[in-house]
Amino acid sequence: MLCLGIESSCDETGLALVRDGKFIAEKLASQVDVHALFGGVVPEIASREHLRALPALYNELMQEQSLTADDIDVVAVARGPGLQGCLLMGLNFAKGLALSTGATLIGVNHLWAHLTAAGLEQELQYPSLGLLVSGGHTHIYLIKSSSEFILLGRTLDDAAGEAFDKTAKLLNIPYPGGKIVDDLGRAGNPDRKMFPTPYIKNDNLDFSFSGLKTAAALYVQANPELRLSTMGIPDSETEDPEIVKRRNDMFASFNYSVAKTLSVKTVRALERNKGVKSLIVAGGVAANSVVRTVMAEVARKFSIPLVLPSPKFCTDNGAMIAFSGYLLAKEGFRHGFDLEAIPRGRVVPEDWTRVAEM
Ligand code: ATP
Ligand code: MG
Ligand code: FE
Repeated sequence: MLCLGIESSCDETGLALVRDGKFIAEKLASQVDVHALFGGVVPEIASREHLRALPALYNELMQEQSLTADDIDVVAVARGPGLQGCLLMGLNFAKGLALSTGATLIGVNHLWAHLTAAGLEQELQYPSLGLLVSGGHTHIYLIKSSSEFILLGRTLDDAAGEAFDKTAKLLNIPYPGGKIVDDLGRAGNPDRKMFPTPYIKNDNLDFSFSGLKTAAALYVQANPELRLSTMGIPDSETEDPEIVKRRNDMFASFNYSVAKTLSVKTVRALERNKGVKSLIVAGGVAANSVVRTVMAEVARKFSIPLVLPSPKFCTDNGAMIAFSGYLLAKEGFRHGFDLEAIPRGRVVPEDWTRVAEM
């Protein structure tokens, strides 16, 4: 079964091919540089960029693999959550392709796809606990099968990735700053008291990162010399070493607070869901070195494996959509041409039809 995956929910255009669950090839066009000029993703520009990139990437991908449209059995597309206009670009491309070739169309939940991406590299086990930490979401799921995800907890305000990016922006570090906070924080020493570990003294599995963001803003206000004078990436060669050290320490402390907060709720979820076979952590923030270390400790404590997609499959990509689509198609699920885009803030319905297993 050859499955084409299409990702266009935000600022990355991704197309990939998966054959019988095995990754074959992918194409990815990032718009990060375009949006960096504005300090965040501009939806209208993002949609236009997807429209431009989709046909070109598709042609390159297929030509390089010496494949034609008729070879595709399943067209999987991210149908949400994401930016409405961006999703529509991917959806319309997918529908056109499926309509012209007779391939099965399947709309994929972008968040589930982030978590199932790990299955590209190793066998997924069910049930598993899934922590999705991305730019727009921080969700904990009980994953019962490739088509049954039960939401146990979520962020009430900012996502973890958003907290990273906004903190970086306060210091004049360009969007998306999460990776830079991670990299520079590795050179610093964490002060565990510098920032709060917010919203853990309760009994639930939800998150709230807005308090942490505010604490970082107050810290920068009180220490304005840590801010870069112009937008850019800190340069330890030219900057005052004392400033570099203090900023790196701030980032180390920030990494610690986010990772610690995530771990408290993950431990709680694991205590309440005894019997899960693995802990899956996915999404862009799963690439964070401190998050990875802390989650490895959590998994060890519960004697279960920690399953992490490799960094390139943590952020948005077409392969995770292709793989998730493959799993669903294999179970016999498909969508009609009335498949709709589901923007951010709405729950993606499981409104597929089931036909015989493929
Ligand atoms: P969503 O999936 O919720 O719609 P998204 O797809 O934009 O959001 P991802 O692409 O999964 O999110 O992740 C991007 C986020 O991950 C950004 O906020 C980015 O700063 C963050 N990120 C990437 N690498 C790291 C890292 N090493 N440390 C911390 N944050 C990181
Ligand atoms: Mg992105
Ligand atoms: Fe994403």
